Amino acid sequence: MYNQSMFQLGDQASPIRELFNYGQIQAEKVGADKVFDFTIGNPSLPMPQEMTEAMIDILQTVEPVALHSYSVSAGYPATRQAIADSLNKRYGTNYGSEHIYMTCGAAAALCAAFTALTIDENSEFIGMAPYFSEYRNFVETKGGKYITVPASEDFRINFTEIEKAINKNTQAVIVNSPNNPAGKVYSREEIQELADILEQKSKEYAKPIYIITDEPYRELVYGGIEVPFIPNIYRNTIICYSFSKIYSMPGERIGYYIVPPEADDSADLYKAIAGAARTLGYVCAPVFFQRLVERFPDPEVDLSLYDENRLLLAQGLQDIGYECVNPDGAFYMFVKAPCGDGKAFSDRAKEKNVLIVPGEGFGCKEYVRVSYCVPKERIERALPLFMELFRECR
Ligand code: PLP
Repeated sequence: MYNQSMFQLGDQASPIRELFNYGQIQAEKVGADKVFDFTIGNPSLPMPQEMTEAMIDILQTVEPVALHSYSVSAGYPATRQAIADSLNKRYGTNYGSEHIYMTCGAAAALCAAFTALTIDENSEFIGMAPYFSEYRNFVETKGGKYITVPASEDFRINFTEIEKAINKNTQAVIVNSPNNPAGKVYSREEIQELADILEQKSKEYAKPIYIITDEPYRELVYGGIEVPFIPNIYRNTIICYSFSKIYSMPGERIGYYIVPPEADDSADLYKAIAGAARTLGYVCAPVFFQRLVERFPDPEVDLSLYDENRLLLAQGLQDIGYECVNPDGAFYMFVKAPCGDGKAFSDRAKEKNVLIVPGEGFGCKEYVRVSYCVPKERIERALPLFMELFRECR
């Protein structure tokens, strides 16, 4: 026998993957140029050329046995120190290698943090809609409870609902900014207000209630908008970061978690998350890519192609009459289904080979998510189909 809930997770792809897989099959049947896949968040920019060159250099200069050997579980001290130095320079923090643990992307960092903070079956983690659909699986499979709070009308943090949701079992609130699926960047004022609520609730329940940040899109923003660095506002923050999206290397699985020195019991909490990572098998993140990001700890990438797509899609959809959230970051647009039902709209779009993800899994069932990390031409060619869909589905 085996665990039935694990079977179900393995048996059913996520709705995003399912549509993506459908797109691949459909492309073989009708031709790739007739399928408009806006499902998955696979970066469409190439990795920066200097990183490709650095990979070749690493291969040519590092002695092969050393190159492929295990690092210590937390990752090379030099890699972690390079990341600490970069953050200290950019955000005025005081991190050292001992606060950072390299992981297989943000997903592994999040899973380790949820595991470490799940004390028993009552431990609760709050996700704010619209939220990344995998949080529920990540939390529930570690034995905790995933509590969702609805989105506010403009996708700002819904403070009233957050306050209502917090109780003595609350362990953490997850903050994903820039946000997948809405591209929302929470302002400094919003984070401050959330921090004030959490300070007050932590006092009331005599225990820290953490913020767990999920930051694969931290530097992926447009128009120079500020992404507040949350530990500078709320000290009980655990950072989960990934290089996947900014460097266009999601398949390489490299990221980290940080427990800042200012957090309560920082060193012990760091160890608890490391212990969780160990039980999950997340030790020694891919060493080749540790060496690579060590050389590029300050992500600075030309995002103009995403920005052009963002403006083209927003303008095109709004001209047709769609209501959509103007994204300030990431590479997704959250669009209100003209018929008010994201699933029905996604199904209808699928009939035209336009693949967009229903908002239900993100906690907003009237919406669909359109990923615009795609070739620009795909957006241009799909806009007339979005026009037909708008007319048919109103
Ligand atoms: N969190 C969010 C909001 C994401 O969008 C993703 C990937 O799409 C992840 C986490 C997982 O990131 P990684 O591939 O670095 O594990």
